[in-house]
Amino acid sequence: MALEQFRNIVAGRKVEAKDGGWFPTANPFDGKDWAELPRCGPADAEAAVEAAHAAFIAGDWPALTATKRGKLLRKLAELIERDAEKLAALEVRDNGKLYAEMLGQVRYIPEWFHYFGGLADKIEGGVLPTDKPQMFSYTKREPLGVVVAITPWNSPLMLLCWKLAPALAAGCTIVIKPSEFTSASTLAFAELFAEAGFPAGVVNTITGFGGEVGPTLVEHPKVAKIAFTGGDATGAHIYQQAARHIKHVTLELGGKSPNIIFEDANLEDAARGAISGIFAASGQTCIAGSRVLVQRSVYDEVVEKIVAIARTAKLGDPMDEATQVGPITTTQQRDKVLSYIDVANADGARCVLGGKRPDDASLADGWFVEPTIFADVSNDMRIAQEEVFGPVLSIIPFESDEDAIRIANDTIYGLAAGVWTSSIARAITMSDRLRAGTVWVNTYRAVSFMAPFGGYKKSGIGRESGQHAIDEYLQTKCVWINLADGVPNPFVLR
Ligand code: NAD
Repeated sequence: MALEQFRNIVAGRKVEAKDGGWFPTANPFDGKDWAELPRCGPADAEAAVEAAHAAFIAGDWPALTATKRGKLLRKLAELIERDAEKLAALEVRDNGKLYAEMLGQVRYIPEWFHYFGGLADKIEGGVLPTDKPQMFSYTKREPLGVVVAITPWNSPLMLLCWKLAPALAAGCTIVIKPSEFTSASTLAFAELFAEAGFPAGVVNTITGFGGEVGPTLVEHPKVAKIAFTGGDATGAHIYQQAARHIKHVTLELGGKSPNIIFEDANLEDAARGAISGIFAASGQTCIAGSRVLVQRSVYDEVVEKIVAIARTAKLGDPMDEATQVGPITTTQQRDKVLSYIDVANADGARCVLGGKRPDDASLADGWFVEPTIFADVSNDMRIAQEEVFGPVLSIIPFESDEDAIRIANDTIYGLAAGVWTSSIARAITMSDRLRAGTVWVNTYRAVSFMAPFGGYKKSGIGRESGQHAIDEYLQTKCVWINLADGVPNPFVLR
């Protein structure tokens, strides 16, 4: 059967790759290719940047008032609401995550466009007090220019819109480079911009492989900023390339987040929180609570509770409402997860659940890995230090608050952390001392358009969501106006 075809949008037109190349995308549940996408190269990337740049410097977009820009964002929000089911189903076909999870995400995305649409005409400069009586000076906040948004495969549209909403509200134009594994929903989504009334060229897409289109996009002199979400090795590479051209960069990278359970916590809730931290989305989230730290006095009890819940997790078709754990998005990632399980076993971690592909014949075509739990993990083991990005949990014992902080912070990452306790003092003290961009107390995996999100340490640079996210797409201009006649001594600073 012929594969469904998706096309890019560049300068308002649906386009294929200039050299006519295509590449397939597969459904992780049945392992079969179901669609194909343009395999773009440098010439396509060049054309997309030129289109975004042309739309930024002249024409309808820069002429729009900020209020009208905001209205366009809110109109787009309505269209996303209308198409949420279709877009979510496309995401599931590509990444294998639960339909319930993807639909929840897509239905939530409009809030980013409402919120940042509302902020578009509240971007204010100021009149400066001056020590130079004959001068009047003021500041303006101006859009950076062309933004390249590069996204990963786990939550393609949500992570994209965390960039798009503030960037568009600021007045930037965009080239989107989605993951080669999950591009379909982005291309369907990109069609909504024309319908919402955005001028051609404001939002453009380029599909293909990072190594083939990335350098042109990242190093192009007409690109002002790279907004990247993905792995830390790719992020570091892009950061270096961008540095050569002095570009703005936001990096949302990986994590090895600690989810810390104290003896005074509600242990039932904490066990459920541990599960949601690691087995939701089959562990394929940057904020995965992949290290659960448990106080020694309740260690055995908590391990037992977590294993008991995880054991009942229903693996299956991600479109099925009853399914709780879907497949891994790519075969490469499935193999990487299995290889980390081998490493953990070899390093002496005690596997108390899972540890392999499921035996169930009905899942044989899908890229599944059983929910896997290692107990008695020591924090210096690779399984506790390296991001697995799969359904593999390490449970680590600790003795005291001091011990918990030491272990929690002993990683190169700092994306998120969870604290489970009934003591308000402990909650606040731990939150203060954890080196992470987000700390959840007695909950896990909460995000919002209003709340800044981003990493400490190697988990990234910059913040997405929340009011200040718009600053990541703006720069400040200071204007000086001479109120006096004449130019005094031209050879000295005024
Ligand atoms: P990845 O780094 O392999 O790829 C991310 C994107 O970068 C893809 O679109 C890819 O095509 C592109 N890319 C690859 N090489 C490139 C190059 N040379 N130039 C330009 N672009 C290039 O990441 P992934 O495997 O798709 O996603 C998983 C990673 O993303 C995990 O590490 C995860 O923690 C991280 N992530 C972070 C967040 C966050 O908000 N902090 C959210 C989700 C995922």
